[in-house]
Amino acid sequence: MSPRTRVIAALQHDPVDRVPVSGMAWTIGAMAGGYSTKEYAQSGTKMAKGQIAFWEKTGVDLLHPTSDMGQTAEGWGVKMRYEDGLTPMLDVFAVKEPGDWEKLGHLDPLKDGRMHVTIDAIREIRGKLGDRVAIMPYVPSPLTSATHVCNMEQVMMDILLEPEPLHKGLRTMSDSIVTYIDAIIDAGADGALFATTRASGEITTEDQYREFGANYDGQILKAVRKQGGNNILHVCGVTPHFELLAGYPNANGINWWDRGSNLTVKQAKEVYGKKVCLVAGLDQTTTLILGGPDETRKESFDAIEAGFGDGTGMILSPGCEISPRTSFENIKASVKAAEEFHVRR
Ligand SMILES: [Zn+2]
Repeated sequence: MSPRTRVIAALQHDPVDRVPVSGMAWTIGAMAGGYSTKEYAQSGTKMAKGQIAFWEKTGVDLLHPTSDMGQTAEGWGVKMRYEDGLTPMLDVFAVKEPGDWEKLGHLDPLKDGRMHVTIDAIREIRGKLGDRVAIMPYVPSPLTSATHVCNMEQVMMDILLEPEPLHKGLRTMSDSIVTYIDAIIDAGADGALFATTRASGEITTEDQYREFGANYDGQILKAVRKQGGNNILHVCGVTPHFELLAGYPNANGINWWDRGSNLTVKQAKEVYGKKVCLVAGLDQTTTLILGGPDETRKESFDAIEAGFGDGTGMILSPGCEISPRTSFENIKASVKAAEEFHVRR
């Protein structure tokens, strides 16, 4: 199988020759290519070269050409701050009071913000690597986007006190996100790493997420499917609303922090393993930074045994973006473990 067909098969619950591997490499692509994070965030060619360099150093099956949360948010008027060696940061928000939600405009992914950087990078990566890699860039969901254009506490207040203007903003952002996904699939992506990061108990209740998150996520995922793309939902936090996300009629996979949240790969396989592909297994906060290839290899085997017993429905992956300081050797060790597990099986 090619890496591309392997990833898509795992997401579709078809049999695969071995478990596919993602490195959740976003900012670290800059380091892999020898660029500053600012250069990488502003040039599709540099992002493509950085991602390809990461692929060459590690052998992962799946890439996520992404630089930072501002790629879309900047289009809506957010100002960014750039610091050496760090992911570009959201600095000045665009939505300061509830009335501002209604002022958000529809974005053109080719012109507004820095979505064009990812679109150009996808085209270049696909042109150079063909089926030797699957490509699913980070795309924020509407509620996640809301917390990129506005202070998180303010969004939570608006959920309680100003739901109507917030809903208007979420609708505008949904339309723009569908257009963005259209453009990335046109450029050669296999779908989106769709960030439903606010679907976690520390941030929203399940009911709040249903009304302000899931409503919009569902429409977008329907559009992705229509465009022939797949999706991996990405949720942060330690109490993810996994039941709600796994119940989406068109979710292919879920990426979550299994080593730090209240749901292990083993538990997820038992309860949700037939519904969604589990994209997890490696701890980006400890093993991948503090450990070496031996620890990573051990953790990889442990995860594959828990999630890949039936020979499908898993992508071995860190639970969130890896730190730019992560050693490439560790990610390479996880790919090697995936290859060896197949031999042992
Ligand atoms: Zn995350």
